[in-house]
Amino acid sequence: MATLGDGSSGTNAGPSGKIGPLILLGPPGAGKGTQGKRISDRYKIPQISTGDLLRDNVTRETELGRRAKEIMARGELVPDNLVCDMVATRLRQADCQRGYILDGFPRTPAQAGWLEAFLESEFFDKPRDERDGPIVIRMNVDYNLLKMRLTGRRSCPVCNTIYNVHFQPPRVNETCDKDGTKLIQRNDDRAEVITQRLQAYEAQTRPVASFYAAKEQLVTIDADRPMDEVTAMMVWAIEGE
Ligand code: AMP
Repeated sequence: MATLGDGSSGTNAGPSGKIGPLILLGPPGAGKGTQGKRISDRYKIPQISTGDLLRDNVTRETELGRRAKEIMARGELVPDNLVCDMVATRLRQADCQRGYILDGFPRTPAQAGWLEAFLESEFFDKPRDERDGPIVIRMNVDYNLLKMRLTGRRSCPVCNTIYNVHFQPPRVNETCDKDGTKLIQRNDDRAEVITQRLQAYEAQTRPVASFYAAKEQLVTIDADRPMDEVTAMMVWAIEGE
């Protein structure tokens, strides 16, 4: 397995080159959303969060959203085939040509196997050295810190800015600094659902790290560190410097 600092992973991708795909692995609350946004802004590649895509389907009351809604409310994982179809549609969009960040996918070994086959089939006509394997970054965070991050998480429903009432509170209680909107808590960030989500991670997602470690595509970073340091470690993993 590659760990940060051993120099065995990363690619020579610069701010203008093709990136990744970059896969962010880690439990709920590890900071995949926050760090993914920073990386997305830096390299101008889309951040594809399967949680966000699913929530959007729930809001729009699509067939997928209707099927996913109760499962998500319980903190369980949506069936692989539904999520993979949704991801395939998204990855074929033009903005993914230069690369993309997968945030919250793959979350089961079956999804990881599906993604590998998908990438292979999309790139089958390219020479082998142009078929970049994914860069997989696993974000490790202490369990108690994760719970604080999740229970404290609030977001602005208008501009999507994320706050944390414990670590990064808004200036005015429960109100967005940017546009004054009342902040909301995600339905599945309630204590009882958090336990289920963390269990789903342990049982179903942790083995995904082993899948990529076996292929020497895994970089593990300590995501307990201050936010800027975590970003710097991720840039290192991407650029191989
Ligand atoms: P997240 O925003 O990544 O924490 O995801 C919120 C919820 O969406 C999860 O608890 C799952 O119910 C569902 N979900 C998100 N991504 C996936 C995935 N890759 N596979 C299955 N379910 C997912």
